[in-house]
Amino acid sequence: MGSYSRGRDFLFCQLCGTMLTIPFRASDKYAQCPLCNAKRNLKHIRGKEISYKISAEDIRRELGINIIDEQKVQLSKVNKKCDKCGHGEASFYTRQMRSADEGQTTFYTCLGCGFQFQEN
Ligand SMILES: [Zn+2]
Ligand SMILES: [Zn+2]
Repeated sequence: MGSYSRGRDFLFCQLCGTMLTIPFRASDKYAQCPLCNAKRNLKHIRGKEISYKISAEDIRRELGINIIDEQKVQLSKVNKKCDKCGHGEASFYTRQMRSADEGQTTFYTCLGCGFQFQEN
């Protein structure tokens, strides 16, 4: 049992270890084991599920924003030495992070090898 499976214990039957069937309807209060029919209250399980979904959604939205911004921005050239190949020119764009105190990040793409790096 690694840490991965331990972290997901709430999805498994405590008696036989079979994965529980979790009902989709919010009115169903129990998850049932398909093997031994043991039931587990979903109250705290649903809470975990919801918080997991929110963080996944946040990540997806973050990625979506990144993609849109990259398409909008006209790439400009700047004299910037690439750490990887030593080429002296890179294209760059800046992006304001959602949170104000994260500030602005400058993203560079080396025109020699395509290596991507960033600076705050
Ligand atoms: Zn069981
Ligand atoms: Zn390079």
